[in-house]
Amino acid sequence: MIDLHSHSNISDGLLSPAELVAHAANNGVRVLALTDHDDIGGLQEAQQAAVQHGITLINGVEISVTWKKRTLHIVGLNVNPDNAVLQAGLAAVRSGRLERARQMALSLEKSGIHGSFEAASSYAQQSILTRMHFARFLVEKGYAKDPKSVFKKYLVKGKPGFVNHEWMSLGSAIDLIINSGGVAVLAHPGRYEIKRTNMLLLLEEFRALGGTAIEVVTGSHTAAQYVEYAKYAQLFGLKASQGSDYHGKGISFMGMGRLPELPANCIPVWQDWPQMDALLAA
Ligand code: AMP
Ligand code: MN
Ligand code: MN
Ligand code: MN
Repeated sequence: MIDLHSHSNISDGLLSPAELVAHAANNGVRVLALTDHDDIGGLQEAQQAAVQHGITLINGVEISVTWKKRTLHIVGLNVNPDNAVLQAGLAAVRSGRLERARQMALSLEKSGIHGSFEAASSYAQQSILTRMHFARFLVEKGYAKDPKSVFKKYLVKGKPGFVNHEWMSLGSAIDLIINSGGVAVLAHPGRYEIKRTNMLLLLEEFRALGGTAIEVVTGSHTAAQYVEYAKYAQLFGLKASQGSDYHGKGISFMGMGRLPELPANCIPVWQDWPQMDALLAA
């Protein structure tokens, strides 16, 4: 059981890094990547917990990127958390989030929804402020029944709580990941609603900039999209990754320990990882 995409409460997940690792281990996951948004602050705690539970923790991160005015997520796997350039780069991405959250709250205010900044901040505590924290507030106040419908009604382009934000460039994110020893993975490509022509451009550019893999099996994809993105990976000679994108009970696309296998025509992103030798031999 390999799960290369998950979140703790260092970003917008519900569980602490140690709780997340315990939850993964209890659900049969043997290799887990913690990939918090724009933050690697949970990796040390997660590593310690992984040793306790006898599972392998992959040091990861999920970087927010702006590409052709769209927001994309680039997962870095096997990054070195001690790399100072990576730390500084992520701090820069995080720094814009506070002002963005204030603007989101102002915008919701204009639609008669009060107190969202304070509520989102209280959910976030020490962590970065994300749209997920606003979504939890809006669900709690009864504006929609679950995060999915809240996003649709309030938090995506054209809706009251949406604020445009310029994230890191695609090239800078890939560079940060590679220069800290990691590999770059395009997260949940099926979620971006990019038409085929643009998807081909994106994958071409992603590969040219040094990208290694795309997520094929993810909690964000339908079964048909597993097949579709396996074909894209093959077309571009990119490897394939898999991950639940688990955030916590009630706010996840998929539970942990339930990932189907990659389609047969995929080359797994972990194919040449030394950490996997012992596991696969066992
Ligand atoms: P942000 O990085 O602040 O824009 O927040 C994005 C986060 O919101 C993502 O990482 C997801 O956890 C969550 N999210 C985005 N879109 C949706 C959606 N349609 N349904 C549920 N959660 C979503
Ligand atoms: Mn998230
Ligand atoms: Mn994502
Ligand atoms: Mn994610």
